[in-house]
Amino acid sequence: MSSISVTRSSMPPLDEYVAEISSLWDSHWLTNMGVKHREFEAQLRSYLDVEGVALYTNGHSALECAIEALQLGADGRYKVITTPFTFASTTHAIARKGLTPVFADIKLNDFTIDPKEIEKLVDDKTCAILPVHVYGNICDVDSISNIAKRHNLKVIYDAAHAFGVRTSGDSVAKFGDISMFSFHATKVFNTIEGGALCYRDCRLSTILNQWKNFGITGPESAEYIGGNAKMNEFCAAMGLCNLRHIQEEIDKRKTVAHCYWRLLESVPGIRACVPPDETEHNYAYLPVVFNGSGTFVRDKVFEALSKRCIGARKYFYPLTSDLECYRGKFDSNKTPNAKYVANHILTLPMYADLSLENVEAICHIVKSAIQEGEN
Ligand SMILES: *Cc1c(COP(=O)(O)O)cnc(C)c1O
Repeated sequence: MSSISVTRSSMPPLDEYVAEISSLWDSHWLTNMGVKHREFEAQLRSYLDVEGVALYTNGHSALECAIEALQLGADGRYKVITTPFTFASTTHAIARKGLTPVFADIKLNDFTIDPKEIEKLVDDKTCAILPVHVYGNICDVDSISNIAKRHNLKVIYDAAHAFGVRTSGDSVAKFGDISMFSFHATKVFNTIEGGALCYRDCRLSTILNQWKNFGITGPESAEYIGGNAKMNEFCAAMGLCNLRHIQEEIDKRKTVAHCYWRLLESVPGIRACVPPDETEHNYAYLPVVFNGSGTFVRDKVFEALSKRCIGARKYFYPLTSDLECYRGKFDSNKTPNAKYVANHILTLPMYADLSLENVEAICHIVKSAIQEGEN
């Protein structure tokens, strides 16, 4: 078996991309909200079923923009309740905007932030909640919305993993004040690099769009000290192409995921995370928790796969609250579920064109490594 990486970026047929970008050789308009940018934005509004969409160079810049646009911290409340079981970006965005992350524990069943834990942490310095739809699993949005209303908090969802996910027919983009999507090459849907903010309050539109272009509002005016985070035409064109194939992409991933779940179902010491019936999932990742009695089983499985050139990821390990840059600031023992999951989880290879023969081979290696680890 040749090497298998943990993910593989989806690309449209080359001809299709060439056709999409060829008009740029006529217009010479390469960035600054050109035709592709505007068309892609409009198509996303429809696909994600949300009033407002703003495009960015990447998800992280979009997240920082969302924090600024909602003016978090401006009224003296500086704490943002969030999850430590996420990618560095989520926590960094809060810290880089001069705010203080406060970590709430996660639920063991789907790894999303636990509303009961949020409730315990809210105080008069809390201004917002920043949950993550981790692996595409939708947070307990109703409870979170309820807490936010009662305490006058903003809600920004990190929906970087959740493109295309729906629950009871509702698009994931509809929840909270703003949702951030990442279109990084490794995500279910990519624009090479890219990101978007989705919002319902149209009054946010001006600031969200000014922010990515230096706050410029006219040839001789800049009303806002904005940065630069405009999605360029080549990335928007990639988005237009990939969007045409998104359902096929998700369907293929679904077949791969079901194959994994079937093969791993009866293996003792393993728990795969199967989404609930009411969600249309995007099968972004294939997380598996190694919860048997043996210690370091997860690491043994990781090594066994690495030895055969199969990429798995300890995603997310460590917790962001344990990253070097935050050393001494947080105590990850206060989020025991998150700590447990970080120490026992592995995401297995997952992408649309992963063959089922390879899935079988991967599962076989996983099973043998568990048996060795348990003994
Ligand atoms: C990928 C990711 C981001 C950052 O998105 P970029 O587009 O890479 O900047 C943020 N949060 C989570 C959970 C992610 O997985």
